[in-house]
Amino acid sequence: MQQKLLLVYTGGTIGMVKDKKTGVLMPFDVDSLLAQIPQLEAIKAQIDAVSVPQPKDSADMQPKDWQFLGKLIYSKFMQYDGFVVLHGTDTMSYTASALSFMFTNLKKPIIFTGSQLPIGDIRTDALENVLTAIQIALLQENGEPYINEVGVYFDSQLFRGNRSTKISSDRFKAFASPNFPALVTSGVSLKVNDPVLVKANLNRVTKFSEVLSDKVFLLKIHPGITQQVLEQLCKTVDFEVLIMETYGSGTIFNAPWLAHLLEKLLKNGKNIINCSQCISGVVKQGIYEGSEQLKSLGIISAKGMTTESAITKAMCLLGQNKSKNEFKKHFETNFSGEMY
Ligand code: ASP
Repeated sequence: MQQKLLLVYTGGTIGMVKDKKTGVLMPFDVDSLLAQIPQLEAIKAQIDAVSVPQPKDSADMQPKDWQFLGKLIYSKFMQYDGFVVLHGTDTMSYTASALSFMFTNLKKPIIFTGSQLPIGDIRTDALENVLTAIQIALLQENGEPYINEVGVYFDSQLFRGNRSTKISSDRFKAFASPNFPALVTSGVSLKVNDPVLVKANLNRVTKFSEVLSDKVFLLKIHPGITQQVLEQLCKTVDFEVLIMETYGSGTIFNAPWLAHLLEKLLKNGKNIINCSQCISGVVKQGIYEGSEQLKSLGIISAKGMTTESAITKAMCLLGQNKSKNEFKKHFETNFSGEMY
């Protein structure tokens, strides 16, 4: 039976053209985009394409767009063998991470890709990215999809979406997965890193939940951040989860006022997550004095999670109205390969 793939266009540089008057890059429609990829004809699968109503720069993507995209894919889930999402690179890792937590026991591939140069550009990276993303989404073993994950394919590598992060705005290698190996590497042939793939339970159904909460606040710690700024922020910002981007292995400066502030937030029912500013490595609370205090306060460790993953996981868990303790327990437990 012929395989079927759904291509979902959400916007991004890949589908942009220069506005003749202003010279600003603007998204164009999915048909014009597909017309630039004649190689699609040679793929032995039925490829259908659909566009979100208003393709956009991914800087404009919001949780409601993740919900829309997730619902769209879920509504077509039984009809297709795999999904490729064309998306702007700026927030691709956020959307991919969010979807990896919104789907449970994912049994089909959802592969995100985009490009650094528009598809009409003579040196575009879009063609290789789109065509290989499609081939990866169509990989099968014994009639079942090989990849049962949300992935980000870019510049010859497929990364787990919730392990990926954008690292460059001008290199073709725009993404990295610093704490986890690539799932697939593309050269003359596709090399699948089988042992690291998430294995779906074929006897269970795939579920989708659209609940999300936006009461998550990310705070980057830096030398010189003042007591006044932190106290004001904590007083005025309406959040349930505070994600602190700390240094190195999860350290923060020692100051009695800071410990007092964090303690107060915890007492008021907030959850606080310790996530590192480092691109690679793991949060290990307690190995330095600067993180021992966080551990003893009961602050949650994001371990080796990306910030994108920590934010979106927190949004999903908060949306499920879990108690403070349940939230902590679930956050610290691996859900879809985001932490081991
Ligand atoms: N600003 C663009 C976007 O994220 C960049 C890109 O697609 O590469 O939509």
